[in-house]
Amino acid sequence: MINNNYLDKLIDTIHDMELPYLRVCLTSYCNAKCYICHNEGQKKAHKGGLSLHEYEELAKLLAPHFNPPRVVFTGGEPLLFHDLYEVIKIFKSYDYIVGLVTNGTLLNENTQKELLESGLDTINISLNSLDREKYYHFYGIDEFTVLEKNLEVLDKYFKYPRKKINWVISGNPDLDDELQKLCALSQKHKFVISLMFDVSIDKEKINLLFNRIKKILHNNYGEPCVEKHIKYKRYVDFLKFNNGSIWEFDYLQTEQNNHLLKNNTSCRNCLNENKEICYEGAYALRLFANGVFKPCLIREDNEININDIFPKSNIELEVKYKVINFPINLIESLGFVEIKKSHQVDKYHIVNKTLNGKRTYLRLRNDVINNKMSFDFHQVISDVATEETEISLNDSNDINTMGTILEKLDYPFVCEVDKYRVIYRNGDIKLILDTVKNLGKFIEIELAGNEQHESHDNLFQLVNKLSLDEKDRIIKKGYPDMILSK
Ligand code: SF4
Repeated sequence: MINNNYLDKLIDTIHDMELPYLRVCLTSYCNAKCYICHNEGQKKAHKGGLSLHEYEELAKLLAPHFNPPRVVFTGGEPLLFHDLYEVIKIFKSYDYIVGLVTNGTLLNENTQKELLESGLDTINISLNSLDREKYYHFYGIDEFTVLEKNLEVLDKYFKYPRKKINWVISGNPDLDDELQKLCALSQKHKFVISLMFDVSIDKEKINLLFNRIKKILHNNYGEPCVEKHIKYKRYVDFLKFNNGSIWEFDYLQTEQNNHLLKNNTSCRNCLNENKEICYEGAYALRLFANGVFKPCLIREDNEININDIFPKSNIELEVKYKVINFPINLIESLGFVEIKKSHQVDKYHIVNKTLNGKRTYLRLRNDVINNKMSFDFHQVISDVATEETEISLNDSNDINTMGTILEKLDYPFVCEVDKYRVIYRNGDIKLILDTVKNLGKFIEIELAGNEQHESHDNLFQLVNKLSLDEKDRIIKKGYPDMILSK
């Protein structure tokens, strides 16, 4: 179900601000600690809360409003996002040009291959030094050798012009030396070197510095062929040297570019008190990992939450059956596609306790494969419906702390459920195949909906198609109940 008021508001904003593309922060977590990183403006750490279904709906709804449809995945470090390949495939299926910005340290050969097979068009690697010590100083991690190896193999999967080095100039004292190394890298592996400035650099100096860099390159490598473009509402100069080295000068923060990025209805009418420090203007429509759309980095009054566009039904209809084997061929022939595997270790602190007349469960979940943890409160509304309230936890320390708090509140640990789970999806219906330690195999059919007859009918039609037998149906019992009654 879509709330068109909020969707229309978002679409109006895209047009009023003439936002050139969608920039999706899949996660705000990162494996590095780059000291100039602004994490795209995200304030709190979020692993990434959108479902594949939500990404698919968004890709479909927003594609007609960008010309051409273009999405860039970033983070945090987007290679830490567990469903990255799936999300790329989704956006490609709606004809987006898909780019990825990464620090490159996790970009090993297997990952490059998977990215290519998923349909990724371009890779931008953020790099600030080709000197091992300075690299450590910038990124706070000792991964320079790994990165060098990853850059070496990148030629095999992403050739020019599909790969670029994003180099942020931030007052590096050995600029001349770094420029020589960059030139060698660009020449050898045909990387485009894209230069831009750290926001701390005085914007009056940007043109002067760019001219100085152009002069150094010119003196060392001869007269380049210069192309001037306006790309995604920014002035960009391309310098192509005879030795094969290609450089891109991005004038994002300059005065003339500011004029381009703010030449739209919203910015012209903007009354925000911080408008003067707004150097980016209408740069892109950002979607943060917590589901907030951010049309510009300064204002908060034009943000829209994805939950307003897709109000979540927190009621799930579900039925569960014990089975001997999983009928994978039949499931796939019915159009279901595997979307996720997990290994969930659940520690229950409330099992089947009646609160406000409802059977209640409280657990701490650790999804070992996907490194996702949560604190979950469930109340059973009927034989097929459960109301779920859940929050994410950051790590296993949070799980231990929450466990201690629950013990102190007199909700001691009751039992553990350890299961391997494979999820298949077809539209709004999910099939969940569980192999539970000490209990066996189960198929659960889950449907986000309501308690109306139509949703019930859809659920039980599928039960018939899968030849699930009513005598094997598990009613009024969750896995913890079954473990405790063994
Ligand atoms: S704060 Fe900047 S980008 Fe946002 S609307 Fe105002 S001028 Fe435009």
